[in-house]
Amino acid sequence: MISSSESLQNLIRELSGLPGIGNKSAARLAYYLADAPKEKVKLLVDSINKVSENIKRCKVCFTFSDDDVCGICSDDRRDKTKIMVVENERDMLAYENIGEYKGVYHVLGGALSPLLGIGPNELKIKELMARLSDNIDEVIIATNSSIEGETTATYIAKLIKPLNIKVTRIASGVPVGGDIENVDDVTLMRAYNGRQMI
Ligand code: ZN
Repeated sequence: MISSSESLQNLIRELSGLPGIGNKSAARLAYYLADAPKEKVKLLVDSINKVSENIKRCKVCFTFSDDDVCGICSDDRRDKTKIMVVENERDMLAYENIGEYKGVYHVLGGALSPLLGIGPNELKIKELMARLSDNIDEVIIATNSSIEGETTATYIAKLIKPLNIKVTRIASGVPVGGDIENVDDVTLMRAYNGRQMI
């Protein structure tokens, strides 16, 4: 996209590199920012900088956090006997948003995929196993219903079985091949409530 200003051109290029933003959206955002009040732009830039500089992974569940332990893991009202295993923090947020689940989470950082070279060591599976103790009643596997998500669910279930901890899989309300983050709340709640032992 050709712009009359080099700095705008640069901004458009950077924005169009973001997920879900094409050239047209990038240009629209850039022109908006060029015209926006300086304080507003500064707030945006500051919040981006803060995320970039301060955010880390919770050392318990591996979601994004400002502190060593995230707000969910450090919340005494959460049921620590239940761990929901998700592929990424966006899926975790989808479950958080329906407000039904009161347990804690474990973010794997993806799903097993031999094609992409993602094996068990690339995911936080060892770290999940290290969390499992006598105090855990149930592990709910909420990976996506893609081939990779199913493979990951089966793999983890096999590892946990010998520990005599209940392992459940969310129901098939989540469409086959569908991403959890894009599923509506009602379907997601049904999938959670209809989970089955595996
Ligand atoms: Zn956490």
